[in-house]
Amino acid sequence: MIKLDDLTKVYRARGRTVTALDGVSLDVAEGEIHGVIGRSGAGKSTLLRSVNVLERPDTGRVFVDGADLLALRGDDLRKARQRIGMIHQHFGLLGSRDVTGNVAFPLEVTGVPRRERLRRVAELLELVGLTEHARAHPAQLSGGQKQRVGIARALAADPKVLLSDEATSALDPETTDSVLDLLRDLNRDLGLTILLITHEMGVVKKICDSASIMRDGAIVETGPVLDLLASP
Ligand code: ADP
Ligand code: ADP
Repeated sequence: MIKLDDLTKVYRARGRTVTALDGVSLDVAEGEIHGVIGRSGAGKSTLLRSVNVLERPDTGRVFVDGADLLALRGDDLRKARQRIGMIHQHFGLLGSRDVTGNVAFPLEVTGVPRRERLRRVAELLELVGLTEHARAHPAQLSGGQKQRVGIARALAADPKVLLSDEATSALDPETTDSVLDLLRDLNRDLGLTILLITHEMGVVKKICDSASIMRDGAIVETGPVLDLLASP
């Protein structure tokens, strides 16, 4: 479902160069939950943002659901990108809009008619257990509820792939567990493929089928989680 082929990315800032991706290849099968773990600065975020081309690698290729994303431009890229959901550490919600307005936002941008939007939003809120909070504003919600809004919004366009950028790092352990449970349910019930980055082994242990360890822009180990945990 996701295939990264020999990605490199070098940042140049104020005369310094940083190799954020140094020949990264990765395969995530359909329906799999894959975790990328590593310290701050390892290149996890650059890897994740390459999958939906928020970051454009210097070399290499990115395939998602058969589409060769780096070969796409303009509208074609925009459309392909809209089918890849993403959730964030700090949720990224619009404070001026209620829960419904936040979840409806991506549908509005793509021109889905209002009646159809509201039907879809109701379905999504049901899916993440927020029906009762449809009219609440983000400031009135707990961290866990905010991330559920983020998840509902990420799923609005019915993506096959969900990218998670440290989605539970700002949450307490109990809330983290409930958000991870929700992600696992969505993976099971919708067949959603999930690629997540984290610096917490607990997250990988709890929901990932397979994982990669990243260091200095490279994947230094990859495989089923049980094998990684067993390795010295
Ligand atoms: P991680 O997500 O594992 O913390 P990142 O992908 O954010 O790692 O960063 C990898 C390396 O690239 C780091 O050394 C970081 O400082 C550098 N980097 C990331 N984004 C930029 C940027 N826009 N400009 C310059 N350097 C960057
Ligand atoms: P508020 O969020 O302050 O209630 P809004 O103008 O954002 O005011 O929204 C009014 C109502 O319209 C919201 O309660 C929501 O249910 C609905 N709504 C907001 N944005 C959208 C949207 N993009 N698509 C469908 N319904 C929306």
